[in-house]
Amino acid sequence: MRIARFTTGSDPRFAVVEEGSDDLVVISGDPLYSPLEPTGERVPLDQARLLAPVIPRSKVIGVGRNYAAHAAEMGSEVPERPLLFLKPNTAVVGPDDPIVLPPYSEQVEHEAELGVVISRICKDISADQANSVILGYTAGNDVTARDAQRADATWTRGKGWDTSCPLGPYLVTDLDVSDLSIQARVDGELRQDGRTSQMVYSVPELVAYASSIFTLLPGDVILTGTPAGVGPIEHGQRVEVEIEGIGTLSNPVLRRS
Ligand code: MN
Repeated sequence: MRIARFTTGSDPRFAVVEEGSDDLVVISGDPLYSPLEPTGERVPLDQARLLAPVIPRSKVIGVGRNYAAHAAEMGSEVPERPLLFLKPNTAVVGPDDPIVLPPYSEQVEHEAELGVVISRICKDISADQANSVILGYTAGNDVTARDAQRADATWTRGKGWDTSCPLGPYLVTDLDVSDLSIQARVDGELRQDGRTSQMVYSVPELVAYASSIFTLLPGDVILTGTPAGVGPIEHGQRVEVEIEGIGTLSNPVLRRS
């Protein structure tokens, strides 16, 4: 099932988007906290603005170098355990929202990633139990100020700035994410072209490892790493992340002068 978070000008609402339909079937409440109950209202997709399908309540957990070919292009080894970092929830934006380049960076790069949305509070989950705490999946862009990432001992400034975490367009439940196409395009040019089967640490392993460190809350997101092909984005360009079964997350790039 595809779940959208959207606005028609007032407060955000949620909807189910049925296969082959151009309508948002509006549901009451937030699917993280209440059962899906249609309100009876339908909104045509072209009359709504899609928002990030989830605003993490506490954190976005990133995973560094989780595709071997990307680790190699960074001149790095695959880490001997998952390499985690955090992006604040203030970094999250939705489909078509601008990625605003931070003034301290001259080298901002796209990173197409599969996002895992956590369904319930949990700690110390085993990999075998991971599916029971996953609500669904979305596409994400772990946009990175590469020069700031390299200059600092931590990745906070390189990966945590406002608008550095586009998510969307939908949250998709019941998706087998073990071998999906994941791509990034900039102004239509294919930059990244990988498969989720190339992950070093699988989604269940990442959920288990993250939950051994932090309590995971409903709506927390794990970005699972990026395939090879990262590269620069510039003011005026448009970057798209497409994941099979989820859709295309598209964002313009803006430098405020
Ligand atoms: Mn990343």
